[in-house]
Amino acid sequence: MEPIPCVSCGTFFIPRNCKQNYCREPGCQRARKAAWQRYKLKKDDDYRTQQHLSHQKWLQTNPDYYRSYRRRNPDKVQRNRTLQIIRNRRSRPRIRDASRPDDPLIAKMDARKCNQFNLVGQFYLVPVIAKMDVRKVNIYTISDR
Ligand SMILES: [Zn+2]
Repeated sequence: MEPIPCVSCGTFFIPRNCKQNYCREPGCQRARKAAWQRYKLKKDDDYRTQQHLSHQKWLQTNPDYYRSYRRRNPDKVQRNRTLQIIRNRRSRPRIRDASRPDDPLIAKMDARKCNQFNLVGQFYLVPVIAKMDVRKVNIYTISDR
């Protein structure tokens, strides 16, 4: 068989059969298993129920796991808070308050704001239309005027 690029890392490898998309690297095999599990959780109700029950049982034996995880990973806590705000905005459709005339349905074209804010730091790029994963990007200033 001809070498094909690994779905996870992109390195070319010779697959054992026509269904193999991931190379043999442990990280790529973990990615393959995680993708399989995401698919299974989405499609298989029984599997999802079993996983939920199993997780609840595990949680009873490890009650402080998430508390200590959040304490150990403050950056992930902040990331989750940011993404939850975005998920909340997406799930709740904005309802116009008719009693407030200053709450316009469309943007005020004459209300201009100065765009001289400093857009430097870490941001999450969240695709609105396409179903893609969220990307974390760093924005730096590169020009010296
Ligand atoms: Zn790979």
